[in-house]
Amino acid sequence: MKALVYGGPGQKSWTEVPNPIIENPTDVIVKIDATTICGTDLHILKGDVPAVTPGRILGHEGVGKITEVGSSVTNLKVGDRVLISCIKSCGSCANCKIGLYSHCLGEEGAAGIGWVFGHLINGTQAEYVRVPYAENSVYKLPDTVTDEEAVMLSDIFPTGFEIGVQYGGVKPGDVVAVVGAGPVGLAAIATAGLYGAARVIAIDLDANRLEKSREFGATDTVLSGDSSWKAKVMAMTDGAGVDVAIEAVGVPETFTMATEIVRPGGHVANVGVHGKEVALHLENLWIQNIFVSMGLVNTNTTPMLLKLVESKKLPASMMVTHRFKFDQFLEAYDTFGRAAETKALKVVISQ
Ligand code: NAD
Ligand code: ZN
Repeated sequence: MKALVYGGPGQKSWTEVPNPIIENPTDVIVKIDATTICGTDLHILKGDVPAVTPGRILGHEGVGKITEVGSSVTNLKVGDRVLISCIKSCGSCANCKIGLYSHCLGEEGAAGIGWVFGHLINGTQAEYVRVPYAENSVYKLPDTVTDEEAVMLSDIFPTGFEIGVQYGGVKPGDVVAVVGAGPVGLAAIATAGLYGAARVIAIDLDANRLEKSREFGATDTVLSGDSSWKAKVMAMTDGAGVDVAIEAVGVPETFTMATEIVRPGGHVANVGVHGKEVALHLENLWIQNIFVSMGLVNTNTTPMLLKLVESKKLPASMMVTHRFKFDQFLEAYDTFGRAAETKALKVVISQ
């Protein structure tokens, strides 16, 4: 089969590799119909994630059909069309039992690390993939949900919703600000509406992304390159600050921005993956009664999100801006890697 293989920092190829085989009785093999690229894959390609070693097939998002099942798999069969979650979950360890799949203690990849695809084991940017703990890590898809819609639920929608909206404690009537209107921020914007946010303020450096954010339900937009960005946000809340500030970028500056616009008693939900040291100014924040949260997506809300996509309440396919075939994989990476120029949000690569 062919797959997108990491060759070390700056190196990748769409190349011939051996087909995956069932290694454990709980595995299934899935023939991928559609996959996508995540900002994390770009980090890996820069060499920022040393745990990913040359030879690894990248990707942790995908939709496809089961071609083989392990001997202990009972509730899935060959031919089933499934969504592959970005997080493995054995379903039986102490962490899985409380829905903390991000820290699944199953041995696959590494015990305690839920994100293993395209990281510690081969990923989904391939014609076929082996899925460990399949009964808990894939979701059967109804015919009414398209491949494109479904693949947006492998990672970005659960991330924006769980780590942004749920951890941020969004409730009816809240004013929510989302710093960073990339795919994850847009997913937070779209799902904040479901929890009854009265106002959703999108904040980004990129005017195109802000325009897009309105389609996902942002009621207000603020360009953060503008020196009066903070005054603008505060004016929208009569000077009080927002109830929930969601950070969806992953740089120190934007985390600080989130802490500066939250009202006393409010929540700062950090979603961004940080590669550098970030300051948390407790000397200023302690007296403000601020809740701060952070985390890796669990994907435990995937079944619920899937129902919302099915009932057309979540605009999942609106995230897809570019479409490619498998033999155009390198082009897809190029387009996604130049998102500011190409206006790419999510690129879907299919058979
Ligand atoms: P992205 O890079 O596509 O989007 C980031 C957005 O932030 C862009 O629109 C960019 O213009 C904007 N931005 C950059 N600097 C800014 C600034 N100073 N002020 C305002 N906006 C700024 O990323 P994405 O795919 O949407 O992911 C967002 C973050 O979420 C990343 O850090 C990613 O690694 C992280 N993530 C976290 C999890 C998790 O489980 N916690 C899962 C997936 C992704
Ligand atoms: Zn587990």
